[in-house]
Amino acid sequence: MSDNVFTNAIKRLDSSAEYSRAHAETVNRLRQPKQCIEVGFPVRMDDGSEQVFTGYRCLYDDTRGAGKGGIRFHPDVSREEVMALAFWMTIKCAVANIPFGGGKGGVIVNPKELSKAELERVSRGFMRAISGVVGPDTDVPAPDVYTNATVMAWMMDEYSAIAGKRSPAVITGKPVSMGGSVGRDDATARGGFYQIRELAQIKGWNPSQITVAIHGFGNAGQLFAKLANEDGFKVVAVCDSRTGLYNPEGLDVASIMETKNSTGKVSGQGKEISGAELLALDVDILVPAALENTITTDNQGDVKAGVILELANGPLTNEADAAIRDRGVIVIPDVLANSGGVTVSYFEWTQNKAGFAWTLDEVHERLQKKMAEEFRSIWAFANEKSIDMRTAAYALALDRLADAHEATGTAEFFTNT
Ligand code: GLU
Repeated sequence: MSDNVFTNAIKRLDSSAEYSRAHAETVNRLRQPKQCIEVGFPVRMDDGSEQVFTGYRCLYDDTRGAGKGGIRFHPDVSREEVMALAFWMTIKCAVANIPFGGGKGGVIVNPKELSKAELERVSRGFMRAISGVVGPDTDVPAPDVYTNATVMAWMMDEYSAIAGKRSPAVITGKPVSMGGSVGRDDATARGGFYQIRELAQIKGWNPSQITVAIHGFGNAGQLFAKLANEDGFKVVAVCDSRTGLYNPEGLDVASIMETKNSTGKVSGQGKEISGAELLALDVDILVPAALENTITTDNQGDVKAGVILELANGPLTNEADAAIRDRGVIVIPDVLANSGGVTVSYFEWTQNKAGFAWTLDEVHERLQKKMAEEFRSIWAFANEKSIDMRTAAYALALDRLADAHEATGTAEFFTNT
């Protein structure tokens, strides 16, 4: 991850501000995080030694509500990356129009090198270290890269012990038996899938003629592949961090998921291809679903897809994005494309606060409605102004952030102008 990921992320503020009615003070407020803490916390390892891990939690902005955003466990986590991700969460929650600001956290660790007991101790240790800055009404974490429902359960349990009361609303993405919401597990993928269905309707597509390639086979990538496949789209290629599979006639996604989950690798079908080859396939829809900066100036020229659905956060660099946009490719930006995850996190938090447990149908219906509404309004705004969907999404988010900011007054209010 390059060190200027944050500087690059906030450049989007200026390029979208001219299409927003946000006051300059609102835009200015978003140039730096409200709070970003770095923690070092000791963990006893299985061999008896003590290791000190470094982690971060950033509450970027809480103008529209408490901070919201995941915690990732990854060796490349850095303060800059966490700040960029927290900034994107601020925009994402405003795009999804849910009453949250933005936050993010991360620990520098490779969870694949930890035993299960060590993973539990890292999860609990990190929650202890950040327990003073997170909370149901201050900043609410969730899963992100290489963290899952079990990690959320440990963290919720640890926080509850510190708070002296059961506090399910402190974190979302929990197992359903611990106050999680049904439908949170595939919400990121499902939110993106509902948006592709809206686009298909607008374009009059027949799904069986639409080819899809998915780069990244973690939670979001796998479940998107499954939903698209079940709906009749032709998923022709998938890849994980090691290798990929390609069959122009379509892949059997369910069986690849089985192999991936039992062997840790996608295999057993089609022709083996690399991740770079997958990005260059001549498909209708390309879905980057792995990490940031997957498509850069070096490989953007290879991309042939007409539509890019950004299920990952920040998969296109600014330069690659500009070049791809100029070629007329439709990019459904991360802050919209993957907002299904945080939307169902919001449903989970609401249920925890109210003591409700919604049915799967209720969750799907509400998610579908929200995704369709936000997709259609950003699509319409982009077309009306002849701008790309990312600029439109940021402009809309800035308008919503400005509404909240202006409610407490900007310069005009205080100077009576
Ligand atoms: N980590 C996810 C994201 O980047 C989900 C965040 C959440 O549910 O709070 O959107």
